[in-house]
Amino acid sequence: MTTGHSSIGGSSAKRWINCPGSVQLCAGITAPPPKDYALEGTAAHSFAEACLKHGYEKVAGMTKDTLIAHGFITEEESKWIDKELKTHVKIYFDTVMDCVHKAHKSAIFEVEKGFDLKHLHPDLYGTNDALIGEFMGTLTVFDLKYGKGNLVDVKENYQLMYYALGALAKYDWCFHDVKMVIVQPRAYSAEGAIRSHTMTVEDLVAWGENVLQPAARKTASPSAPLVPGAWCHENFCPAISGGQTCPAVMKEAYAVAQIEFSDVSTAEDICFPEPSAMAPVDVAKVLTFAPLLSAWSKGVVIYAQSLMEQGLSVPGFKLIAKRSIRRWKNPEQTAELLILDHREDQLFEPKKLKSVAQMEKAIGKEGLTDLWEQPDNGVKIAPESHKSQAVKSSAELDFEKI
Ligand code: SF4
Repeated sequence: MTTGHSSIGGSSAKRWINCPGSVQLCAGITAPPPKDYALEGTAAHSFAEACLKHGYEKVAGMTKDTLIAHGFITEEESKWIDKELKTHVKIYFDTVMDCVHKAHKSAIFEVEKGFDLKHLHPDLYGTNDALIGEFMGTLTVFDLKYGKGNLVDVKENYQLMYYALGALAKYDWCFHDVKMVIVQPRAYSAEGAIRSHTMTVEDLVAWGENVLQPAARKTASPSAPLVPGAWCHENFCPAISGGQTCPAVMKEAYAVAQIEFSDVSTAEDICFPEPSAMAPVDVAKVLTFAPLLSAWSKGVVIYAQSLMEQGLSVPGFKLIAKRSIRRWKNPEQTAELLILDHREDQLFEPKKLKSVAQMEKAIGKEGLTDLWEQPDNGVKIAPESHKSQAVKSSAELDFEKI
């Protein structure tokens, strides 16, 4: 079974299926160090794997040192293992084990096992978080999502379909249908933390042949197109992170902003259209590409600084020292010295109560419910796909009163 990281793996499938050119563009980019949320997700997966293999109670009761000694988690992952993570992983554990208990005793049960889809393309392979398969019945594939900011949809989810297809191929298609289950305990969804979608084997096989395989082949073509869209951000495309500037995103950004750089010599030459003069369809375009414009302009600033730090010049700009704020060399020693001649309230900042979420984490929710309120902060714009429910506008509410 092929292991390691595939450039056309399941986690980035939405990106490279929609934007086949991204694979070649990203090949030359050194990935930035993983962010905290990614490390936290890796820790949750390692912990969940150990729980499914050895039992939740046993693993959750181990100290961090014991978990490391058993090879269940790494030293780096250990800093993320806390009460909250254990509670969230328990939801995933219970979901998987409930399915195991309900399945026929001849069912297969796998945790973190690899698969490949060599019959479609040599670079299509990956690992399933967990799966339970009843031959000639249902194959259930589980995916633990530990993120809380990005609510993951279970329908038309290319990553899950990729993994489900891999599991099907591994067991010679001996199932009737495939149930894909996402467990995302930290993100609010009206459908709940556990969401599932079922497809027939025929539909999944057809998707593999008609969508996955052609897209995988296209990624190797010298003319593979770069296609910007929601997947640029949703899938954290390396071509717009860490100061990279994807040419397709730049082109789209210029078009949306209606900028022709050849005609621009001063800031006044850039003539943005007046929002009130724009058609709703153009307003929608700007809203769609605003995050890309912002990411792109940040990338340009980082790139310009790297050029200037190498001694190259960017006309009209220079490097200056960042603003620096004086700080105590040794805060404890300073406090001891000053407290002899001054009152404490002159030397220290007043104590600040923790936020509601921080407090609940520190002392639990009990007794706090009546102490907090949720202020109405008005409304804001979000894409249709956003997890929150749409609210009525003030005009609609006024109309209802009539
Ligand atoms: S940023 Fe978007 S358009 Fe550019 S390579 Fe990545 S997915 Fe494609």
